[in-house]
Amino acid sequence: MGYQVGPAPDAPLASSDDDRGPRPVVEPVWPRFAVTLDEERIDPDVQKVVRRLVRHGYEAYLVGGCVRDLLLGGKPKDFDVATSARPEQVRELFRNSRVIGRRFRLVHVLFHAGKVIEVATFRRNPNDDLDETDAAKSPGHDGAQLLIRSDNVFGEAHEDATRRDFTINALFYDVEACQILDWVGGLEDVRGRMVNTIGEPEVRFREDPVRILRALKFAGRLDLGIHPDVYDSIVTCRDALELAARPRVAEEVLRLLRGGGARRTMFLAWETGVLDVLMPELAALLYDSFASESPSSPGHRVFRLLEFIDRRTLELGSRDDTVLWTLLLLEPLKEATEGARDRSQAVSEFLDPLLERLAIPRRFADGMRRILSVLPRILSGKAGRFARTEIFELALEVAEADLYARGLSTDAIKALRSAPREAAPRETGGRASAAKDEPARAAASTGRGHRASSHGRSRPTPRH
Ligand code: ATP
Ligand code: MG
Repeated sequence: MGYQVGPAPDAPLASSDDDRGPRPVVEPVWPRFAVTLDEERIDPDVQKVVRRLVRHGYEAYLVGGCVRDLLLGGKPKDFDVATSARPEQVRELFRNSRVIGRRFRLVHVLFHAGKVIEVATFRRNPNDDLDETDAAKSPGHDGAQLLIRSDNVFGEAHEDATRRDFTINALFYDVEACQILDWVGGLEDVRGRMVNTIGEPEVRFREDPVRILRALKFAGRLDLGIHPDVYDSIVTCRDALELAARPRVAEEVLRLLRGGGARRTMFLAWETGVLDVLMPELAALLYDSFASESPSSPGHRVFRLLEFIDRRTLELGSRDDTVLWTLLLLEPLKEATEGARDRSQAVSEFLDPLLERLAIPRRFADGMRRILSVLPRILSGKAGRFARTEIFELALEVAEADLYARGLSTDAIKALRSAPREAAPRETGGRASAAKDEPARAAASTGRGHRASSHGRSRPTPRH
């Protein structure tokens, strides 16, 4: 555990049952808890941002994933700030900032080396103040369903906490006071290492089915348990994922592959039946394989491939997105193309409907096709002219993962990886030297890798 908790000086006192007489009107007191966090792990720039906002009379806290990760003893990959200041007011305080987003505006405060700190104004859940009749009329809602289609109403700090998905993601950290603000029981769930929704799990999953994937991701990546009611609701609500915006689903699948807990997360996805909704092809292959229980079955190789992804991620940072998609689908792809006369047509027949359904961007799809066409050559130990193509490094990684999953030596890949470097022409040589540290990403002009920098990031779906 990365912190110690003590009562905060102004923490509310528990009321006792034997209180006599009429209860006094009690002003709501913030549920504050003093914690000792390792300040070293909090980015000094984010501290500056929070302090400047506070100095100008606004409320400002560290929020979301960074607080969770600090409490769990990990290193946050980025820091988010929530504040009572409106976007224009934040913008006025930081010259080096810009307002982004059209529907919901956030401020990006820019620092050196591409570092971005995201500052969001407190928001609330638009479902909170609607009764059923209102909900049916509201443009932000899908009458019969709870699905939230827009989420852009300003609110107060406690409302911003309760609109969030999981209790562990709803903790606010007051940098000045070294206190956690917890309106949702998140500290208890951090202590119990438990993924728990804020409010009724079924309601929260129906509001936004992508939360189902997020629950699995946090459980897998952070090695947490899932509260039994939440687990049951994942099973009950999994079909709702079909209602979610497909690019958000695709992005969340990538995120769960990127974080170092891909194997555990995909196992949970399979176990809960979520994989049947997302990728029935892959789920079916797993059912068939595990029925036979052979350790060399394609199903076992799927989990070995995921294990390879996790190992590489822990060593070198997030892998290239095209490599991730290819490895996830490699075994079903092999099965679908086995013995096919026209391999590339068989690849297309398998991939096209799947890519369409998952809304995987074309650039990844093209990259996957190219990797798959080079793969047999690489596996036979030859590189030839492919060594000079931009797809080469990505294909090497896929080939290496494939050999690893089959329990074979990966020496041939190591040889190929070093051999063409000297022979490569000038521009490829440049790429090759960058590739030393992060081979897959350096050559990735097909599908951009997830940025591994601890602060800079791209957020294709800035819903939150
Ligand atoms: P990661 O470490 O993967 O970035 P994170 O918790 O920071 O995890 P983000 O996707 O960056 O996740 O979102 C930041 C915060 O926004 C979350 O911690 C959570 O409080 C809130 N949030 C994100 N997605 C949702 C959602 N679908 N519904 C409700 N709240 C969400
Ligand atoms: Mg985050």
